[in-house]
Amino acid sequence: MVQTVKLQNGVEMPLEGFGVFQVADPAQCQKTVETALDAGYRLLDTASSYQNEEAVGKAVKASGVPRRELFVTTKAYIQQMGYEKTKAAFVESLAKLGLDYLDLYLIHMPFGGYYGAWRAMEELYREGRVRAIGVCNFNSARLIDLCYNVEIKPVVNQIERHPHFRREEELKIMAELGIQPEAWAPFAEGLKGMFTDPVLTEIAAKHGKSVAQVILRWDIQRGVAVIPKSVHRERLVENQAVWDFALDADNLAKIAALGIGQPSMLDTNKPSEVRRVYDYLRNHVLTSL
Ligand code: NAP
Repeated sequence: MVQTVKLQNGVEMPLEGFGVFQVADPAQCQKTVETALDAGYRLLDTASSYQNEEAVGKAVKASGVPRRELFVTTKAYIQQMGYEKTKAAFVESLAKLGLDYLDLYLIHMPFGGYYGAWRAMEELYREGRVRAIGVCNFNSARLIDLCYNVEIKPVVNQIERHPHFRREEELKIMAELGIQPEAWAPFAEGLKGMFTDPVLTEIAAKHGKSVAQVILRWDIQRGVAVIPKSVHRERLVENQAVWDFALDADNLAKIAALGIGQPSMLDTNKPSEVRRVYDYLRNHVLTSL
């Protein structure tokens, strides 16, 4: 049974959800989300930039799962930053999802006019059109700055976190600010041999679990929410079976030693990476508008 965490504003969020990045084909996305809902996932994580909100919405409708049981997250991308643009983006995302409210609306990247975007999100929150608002990919400095300059603080920061990039100092600051961390790419998409790592493989074998399950358990045991993605039923079911075992101090110390202190996917402090994000915007997001 998936546990929930109470966000700073009292809203309960499942500690494990289902992510749909890079499931762009509409039919595949709808089928995968239907499978995930059938398997018991209740938190769905999409984004306007994933270009699959319509497919997610269709799956939600087809599943018959009551709306109140679901926790649906989407995100506003860089070109949607700014008060007016974010307001319009929200309406568009909600329509694509076929919903009349969102559970969590996130700023996707710490770039562009995100203060204007935040004012729009505060308003949407006050109007009851979204139950919680938050950010993604904000480092501690940006997070603290945001918190000093807004009326309603973010309740979630969705960040790249996995055994190679633990971000413990940042997690401490999030805890001080009352911001719930949510790990994206909990497996680092398998990069740098994540699924075949000998330390993780040994820990997994001791518990009769898979490497994927050990990684997810490591996060949730630390109070970090996870949103793994898989288009395969057996894997998404496997990724859910993480509530019946516990990692001990020795396991945790061994996993801590795997940290390399840098991201495998996205470094928003690096000029070349910022350029890459804007290239993605230009080549993948804006071309489809
Ligand atoms: P991920 O969850 O770390 O890895 C997904 C990859 O792992 C897929 O290739 C999947 O393959 C494979 N996989 C999943 N379960 C497995 C298992 N049990 N055994 C072996 N392989 C397994 O990466 P992600 O999809 O990039 O991140 C997860 C979610 O985070 C996304 O879907 C998205 O919702 C969110 N996200 C957010 C941001 C952000 O900036 N806010 C950025 C990236 C991602 P198959 O699908 O072939 O099974």
